[in-house]
Amino acid sequence: MKVKVLGFSGAEFPGFHPPGFLINGSLLLDAGTIGASLSENAQWKIRHIIITHAHLDHIKGIPFLADNIIIKNKGHNVTVIGIAPVLKTLKDNLLNNKVWPDFTVIPSPSNAVLKFVEIKTGETIRVSGYKVTAYRVNHAVPASGYVVEDKKGRRLLYTGDTGPTNTIWREACKTRIHRAIIEVSFPDKMEAMAIETGHLTPKLLRKEIEKMKIIPDEILITHPKPQHIRTIRNEIRRLRMPNIRLLRDSEVINI
Ligand SMILES: [Zn+2]
Ligand SMILES: [Zn+2]
Repeated sequence: MKVKVLGFSGAEFPGFHPPGFLINGSLLLDAGTIGASLSENAQWKIRHIIITHAHLDHIKGIPFLADNIIIKNKGHNVTVIGIAPVLKTLKDNLLNNKVWPDFTVIPSPSNAVLKFVEIKTGETIRVSGYKVTAYRVNHAVPASGYVVEDKKGRRLLYTGDTGPTNTIWREACKTRIHRAIIEVSFPDKMEAMAIETGHLTPKLLRKEIEKMKIIPDEILITHPKPQHIRTIRNEIRRLRMPNIRLLRDSEVINI
């Protein structure tokens, strides 16, 4: 599995893009960044988008991608996968013909640019050769993390945004995880805000790792606030845990 990091930041600045992780060119985990990072041809290759939650920094690439597809009359559709409340929020508050056209019925309901598919937490579905399992996590809005397993049995865990949580560690870390992309948004001194908004700090992350039965081969940190990235990087180092580091924009992870 090849994962290209389109963005991994908890905010947007030049060089810092919101989360988007493209697996083998066609399966996108979160859609905070698409067009700001991918050429037109690369955008056409995206066929499935798995969304962790409906916060803007995880979905904002979708409306622009849909618009790009219709402009070029590509005639293909993209399947958006998420838990029911996430899909409902996208439909009610984004693709509502007010903020953006409803691309789930354009150009026609039977051949729309965007197709929505629900996944339930605890459920595993097959998505073009991958097994995708959703796990409830603990955020300010309904949210799920995912494990994506390829045909060779290589497993990627992605938390999306979460504060201290349990199910995903208990269920997903029963078996080997080859890479885990886990959020740390704030430095330790902002722990109160992290807890209140459903995020982690390096210190909170250490407690989460203690809940795992089998620790992933490598832990890659996503969603740091760029304004605090140096402090977060130093605090991650000070955990003195092997195989844990911050992601980098545009890097490609081989799993
Ligand atoms: Zn969020
Ligand atoms: Zn976020």
